[in-house]
Amino acid sequence: MEKLHTNPERLKKFLTEIAVFGATENNGVSRLALSDEDKGARDQLAKWFKEAGCEMEIDRMGNMFFIRPGKDRSLPPVMTGSHCDSQPQGGRFDGILGIITGLETVCALNDAGVQLERDFIVVNWTNEEGSRFTPGTTGSGVFAGELDMEEMYALTDRNGCTFGEELKRINYMGKKDFNPQPLHANFECHIEQGPVLENVGKPIGVPKGIVCLRWYDVEIQGVPNHVGPTPMNDRKDALYAFSCMNQRIFELGLAAGNVVASVGEVHATPNSRNVIPGHVKFTIDIRGWDEPLTDQVCTDIEEAINSISKKLGMSVNIRCVWKVRRAPFSPELVSMIHETAKELNLPAHDMVSGASHDTVYINQLSPSAMIFVPSIGGRSHAEVEETSWADCAAGADVLLNCVYKTANDPAGTAYTLGE
Ligand SMILES: [Zn+2]
Repeated sequence: MEKLHTNPERLKKFLTEIAVFGATENNGVSRLALSDEDKGARDQLAKWFKEAGCEMEIDRMGNMFFIRPGKDRSLPPVMTGSHCDSQPQGGRFDGILGIITGLETVCALNDAGVQLERDFIVVNWTNEEGSRFTPGTTGSGVFAGELDMEEMYALTDRNGCTFGEELKRINYMGKKDFNPQPLHANFECHIEQGPVLENVGKPIGVPKGIVCLRWYDVEIQGVPNHVGPTPMNDRKDALYAFSCMNQRIFELGLAAGNVVASVGEVHATPNSRNVIPGHVKFTIDIRGWDEPLTDQVCTDIEEAINSISKKLGMSVNIRCVWKVRRAPFSPELVSMIHETAKELNLPAHDMVSGASHDTVYINQLSPSAMIFVPSIGGRSHAEVEETSWADCAAGADVLLNCVYKTANDPAGTAYTLGE
């Protein structure tokens, strides 16, 4: 059939108008979860979706479900969704693009006078970023039954406010849960947040899944001492040990290829210019698509850390604190995104997602896949985050046509879950 198209001007208008909530001086957005800015954006989304003829449900986690009724409401629905919270000094596209392309899909279907066979649901998942309340992806995690709601309510921010109190304060704690399962298919359109699409010069990225992840906490115990009188050959300098370890972590990540290993946080004690650091605490984040290879890199890094501390006569404690398996998407939906992009004459690129998204959890319940669009300069989680309007529209067009194909399929082609 003739391909459906979204309206790029209206998409731009929605994206520009929603960026007002939490707008920063440098063209970014600070819209922390459950803040007044988050509430403002939520109210605006509710208004727009209502104007577009959607029903709304809000569950006890504050997840907002906007439902465009289909012809047969007993059929499993098609879903898309992302998040409207941001990092502090974050960008105007991360997350919100996935909701606004869903809104534009609804509007374009309205324009075309199409009533789909199935309900089409656009979701705003609460607290994806995990910046104000850690961990992130809490809304989708509770929805998927992987996180406990009461535990999430008890999370506190820096000022001692709890998630539950703040959810109530902004008036987004629903009274009952909304459970549209089983789901027929789920899509999430998101900015890439990396440089790959820009480098290959293609507007659409088709991730086959999300990489696996390992988190470590490491502590090195040396001996603090006066920097002046202590000879170089008689030191137990924990920061020197850390430097040797950090170098090996980088080298082992680099040598493995397609695995990334990063030290993001370092705390040296006492952190004083004339004291040899007696103690260092640091974190390691290791990710890769190839799970056995990633585990091999983890083992190599653990061995390197142990052997360096032994050689330098210091003790070290390594703890693996978080382990997430890779999340392969539904192969049929991944192919559908490819075919759809081709039909729309949009060059598409196979890739994996190095960042986590709400779809990590929804992928466990429903056949799912993601649509990526390029991030200019590969930058994200920063005010400079940028995606061209044409690329936003390309992502919206792919989403619209994938929604049309899956939601207008009364026969109910069964899509398989990822692996
Ligand atoms: Zn995001």
